[in-house]
Amino acid sequence: MALAQVRCPDCNGLNVVKYGKQPNGEQRYSCQDPRCERTIFLLNYRSQPVAHSMRTRIIELALDGADPFAIAEALGLPENEVVMVFQQMSRLTTPPAGVRNRKITQTKIAAG
Ligand SMILES: [Zn+2]
Repeated sequence: MALAQVRCPDCNGLNVVKYGKQPNGEQRYSCQDPRCERTIFLLNYRSQPVAHSMRTRIIELALDGADPFAIAEALGLPENEVVMVFQQMSRLTTPPAGVRNRKITQTKIAAG
């Protein structure tokens, strides 16, 4: 069952369902579109982005070969925030054909 007003930040689709919660109680969502690479996302990526200094640290650790989950544990960040930084990095370095103009975060809440 899709939720009204919640769009996948990756494919901008509406085929989204609730998918458990973060340890801090924040609602997680899952994109159900089989063509979409993103599975789990939060609605507040834009309002609470990973701090620039932390992003730099994530990239440093990533370049050292650490995986997102190890980095999340090391820095005390939610795993999906670290995964998001990884995804943004990969898009910056190798943008998929045809989606270069697509914004990374397009999630909007209509009323609220
Ligand atoms: Zn999607």
